[in-house]
Amino acid sequence: MIRGATSGTWSRRPSRVAYDWDLFAEEAALECLLFESHGILDAPWALWLPGPPSVSGIHNLLVHLRFRRPPERWFSHLPADWQSAAALRYIRATARGFGMRVPLPEPTAFEEAESVARWLASARDRAGRAVLKAFASSATRVAEAARQLRIDLRGCLIFAGGESLTPARIAHIRATGATVFARYVATETGWIASACPFGDSPDAMHVFTDRLAVLTAPADSAVDDDAPLLFTTLSAGAGKILLNTDLGDSGRLRRRPCGCPMGHAGLNLQLSGVHSQAKLSIEGITVAVAVITRALDRVVAAAGGPPDSYQLRQEEDGAGARRLVVRLGPALTGVDDGALLRGFFAELPRHGPDAKLAARFWRESSAIAVRRGSPTLSDAHKMRPLTVSGPDHSPRFDVARGRLR
Ligand SMILES: [Zn+2]
Repeated sequence: MIRGATSGTWSRRPSRVAYDWDLFAEEAALECLLFESHGILDAPWALWLPGPPSVSGIHNLLVHLRFRRPPERWFSHLPADWQSAAALRYIRATARGFGMRVPLPEPTAFEEAESVARWLASARDRAGRAVLKAFASSATRVAEAARQLRIDLRGCLIFAGGESLTPARIAHIRATGATVFARYVATETGWIASACPFGDSPDAMHVFTDRLAVLTAPADSAVDDDAPLLFTTLSAGAGKILLNTDLGDSGRLRRRPCGCPMGHAGLNLQLSGVHSQAKLSIEGITVAVAVITRALDRVVAAAGGPPDSYQLRQEEDGAGARRLVVRLGPALTGVDDGALLRGFFAELPRHGPDAKLAARFWRESSAIAVRRGSPTLSDAHKMRPLTVSGPDHSPRFDVARGRLR
């Protein structure tokens, strides 16, 4: 059994979740269908997900061991601590007894995306196809490394999860020749949905309705795709029992028959446009963070920058006044800060009535500033769409004691 903590959003406290082999067996059956749908059951594949104590990498590894398809490489944002390394060596030795070779996590920082891009290209040269599972921001960095080094990723398939697969990320990854599809997994539920090759877009996924029921709550926004998703677990193997629970994400649901193996298995509920419901209130105007990032993605792309080369930070001064700081990463050279801000205020009103009002108020009140700095990552090594200034009092998972502290 492995244990992890839910990430929560910046406004909620994480809680503990336990996984066991019953859950992995369910997910392995679905993952097998997914790989069959894409015709990649025999393709070499790799993970670029953080190793333990983070849950995502080990979760994916164990699911694949259930159907005897371990990854060839495991790139990890984190080096394993000694307890995790001992557990991984035990898994590796046990798997060897069943004739499987299990890789250990190789520390691979964000700046080393080139190693992952080079592995993808070499595995594709060797086997005709190559597959990567990564967070959407990490996948974008692999694409950026490939673009800079002129590495052709045709024949490579990337499953991007953990973060929203936005149009900017899709375009940037596809420009390398790679194909990219969304996966949707939550710590609370395990596997939720995955995209087949025949959807309307790479982020249109089959929902695993044998494990979960999902419906959309009435939206409180004028933006039609901002309907909160409510989940109910149907499986005894789920990490937590949920009843119409809002995990903090929104998306669009519709019925769509499909000829892929997942469609044949009866999974005909399609979920697309999954994004965080996080909102930002400045100068009395509230706008979804996803709307702000959609506008900024366009402005940054027009200035020649890759997606994920900026981060939003909400700051509060001693008097309680809030401002939004757009922190531009080192990759964005040759971009004038003032021009970027003017471009943002010109683009924002095109994203709905709330955004239009926000653009007017925020420009007049100087509520937005641009600064330079490297992005900060969550404990799970995802790009935080929004960080908030001030000390973080949220509990952390204590590996040694096996509980939250
Ligand atoms: Zn399908």
